[in-house]
Amino acid sequence: MIRPGDAQGGHEKLANMTPDGGQIVYLNGRFLPLAEAAVPVLDRGFIFGDGIYEYVPVYGRRPFAIDGHLRRLHASLDAVRIPNPHGDAEWIALIAQMIERTPYDDQGVYLQVTRGVAPREHGFPKTVTPTVFMMSNPLVTPSAAQIERGVTAITLPDVRWLRCDIKSISLLGNVLARQAATEAGCAEAVMLRDGFLTEGSASNVFAVKNGTLLAPPKDNLILPGITYDVVLDLARANGIPVETRRIAEAEVRAADELWLSSSSKEVLAVVTLDGKPIGNGKPGPLFRRMHALYQGHKRTLAGAALDTTTANHA
Ligand code: PLP
Repeated sequence: MIRPGDAQGGHEKLANMTPDGGQIVYLNGRFLPLAEAAVPVLDRGFIFGDGIYEYVPVYGRRPFAIDGHLRRLHASLDAVRIPNPHGDAEWIALIAQMIERTPYDDQGVYLQVTRGVAPREHGFPKTVTPTVFMMSNPLVTPSAAQIERGVTAITLPDVRWLRCDIKSISLLGNVLARQAATEAGCAEAVMLRDGFLTEGSASNVFAVKNGTLLAPPKDNLILPGITYDVVLDLARANGIPVETRRIAEAEVRAADELWLSSSSKEVLAVVTLDGKPIGNGKPGPLFRRMHALYQGHKRTLAGAALDTTTANHA
């Protein structure tokens, strides 16, 4: 297994590092060194945050749940009326090349499409070509200690817009929420809107009560997480009762367990919320079960090449 910081291993078919060890990224049809990748300042991504992104985890060099990620990319682009610059087969080929040029078995492929470069004017330009950018970095999953002990979170009012289902690069609300969590010494901010749970600054949130897994519905108030889908599918396939419904703030605070999910966090237990313990203040039994199911699912999909979660931190 190749780990972050290791040499490029056996992937010599394509140049995957510059001679000085720099990272290769993709921009508008070309793979090039990160230091040479630049977009004009009038790119609407820079000027307006007018763009969409995706983040695809890769285990053992295989993209995880790629169909779901491409479906969500397409839905987000459609929602903001940016034409999808590539069909699924093209995206899959590009992502495969990105993985090939990046020297880690477990990676996170970030891809971004903006509306393109045009004179600054709010309305859509008449003719414009979307800017496509892609990079891949080592996939950093939770440490063994975080899995074992859980993490802490604060609550915050969800002050974001009403299209949180779009994976927009305009992330100020999420950025400010995460920063507040960091300044409180916590891993995540759990957001509440009108007295109900929405999601984390960069994760979906689940609660467990009396053995039932509770998940907020996939509406306009949360990002439809790909990991969220995997967690619910695994729960249903393994006889864990699931309810997708609005979850009141009081239920969040009185939950037996609280979990985060995301492509890089996978599934992670929250053990204190605003300084008060969730359940007994330790990752609960259903979390342990789901974590094991998730790791098993990863291994099945990635095959023998896959390392265990904790190996990242060995
Ligand atoms: N919600 C928000 C706001 C996110 O930014 C993310 C991921 O970055 C998620 C949920 C989880 O989505 P996924 O499981 O597809 O990574």
